[in-house]
Amino acid sequence: MSAPFASFEELFGRAPDASAEAPGRVNLIGEHTDYNGGLVLPIATPQRTRVQLARRSDRVVRASSAEVGGEPAQYVLCEEVRRGQWIDYVQGVTRALAEAGMSTPGFDIRISSEVPLGSGLSSSAALEVSLLRGLRALFGLSIDDVTIARLGQRAENDLVGAPVGIMDQMAASLAGTDAALMLDTRTLAYELVPLPPEAELVVIASGVTHEHAGGEYRVRRAECERAAAMLGVDLLCSLGPESEERLSALPEPLGRRARHVIRDSARVRAAAGAMRAGDLRTLGDLFRASHASMRDDYEISTTEIDTLVTLADSEPDIFGARMTGGGFGGSVVMVAKKGSGLGAAKRIARSYAEKTGRKPTVLLPGPP
Ligand code: ADP
Ligand code: MG
Repeated sequence: MSAPFASFEELFGRAPDASAEAPGRVNLIGEHTDYNGGLVLPIATPQRTRVQLARRSDRVVRASSAEVGGEPAQYVLCEEVRRGQWIDYVQGVTRALAEAGMSTPGFDIRISSEVPLGSGLSSSAALEVSLLRGLRALFGLSIDDVTIARLGQRAENDLVGAPVGIMDQMAASLAGTDAALMLDTRTLAYELVPLPPEAELVVIASGVTHEHAGGEYRVRRAECERAAAMLGVDLLCSLGPESEERLSALPEPLGRRARHVIRDSARVRAAAGAMRAGDLRTLGDLFRASHASMRDDYEISTTEIDTLVTLADSEPDIFGARMTGGGFGGSVVMVAKKGSGLGAAKRIARSYAEKTGRKPTVLLPGPP
């Protein structure tokens, strides 16, 4: 085992003045609905990102991450520039704060995270939200949790340069590990939906990341925009399932794309209802239907991901499974009977590795 990463005191020669944390997230249902003004249903992971901070008397920021190691990265406030490195997330946050009229003095920060980087649990939002919470505590900023989410998104959109929606930051800021966040991405209205106590979530990373995911993502977005324009609406989710017959007028594949988006957004509301009723069978059916829709209508699944979903189907204590995240690889989320998730996850991961030669990772059930 490698030596533990340096403590705050070892890095910066004094004790921290504040600390904060934020979780990762997994989206339960409602995929590619966020840029169509639809609903999403993310829940927080037990894996969290933690920050410790201390004030400085100058305008310098020094930041160290246990996941990156090495000497602290450093920059001067108001001189943030994109470097194409992890420090851009920190720079993005301080610039977003300054642009919102909340400039702060300099600070030292140590970051550590259980949220795996780049595995689809949204380590980036966990970092932004934990950092903003830490700065709120350190400098007494008056920003609420929704503002924190908006500032985190702005950091990632502007300085990092990733055109992400607001789901990840809202989830890291507002969801719990035992309550999902039903979020209307058009209005940012939200409700917390408790995970039934009889349920347990399983998330398995497929070990596949598709190199064309970014390109395909842009294609799907453009298809949705075209479909919305042809239907005369600003966003596809302005239409509900009752308008589905209008979709038959759209050319291939726009009708299927729009059908996935409208139905998956409706499935979010149905899933929230099933969770509130403790109806895990219905929840599982919705997961399965969502997966079929991503596979056949939205065409963002892969044979490896479909294999994971099929293996989950043969487990008696798993009610349903679906791909979660942007697609073309990534992870599968499953709803299991409480207490049986880990055993099922291990069996599924083993068969999956044998069948595909890929290396799966069980992300949930996570650390206790
Ligand atoms: P995801 O959010 O799904 O994990 P992203 O590509 O959006 O994947 O964000 C991952 C990037 O965020 C990392 O490559 C790194 O630059 C940054 N990051 C996230 N967490 C940390 C951390 N704890 N320490 C340093 N950088 C981090
Ligand atoms: Mg991210």
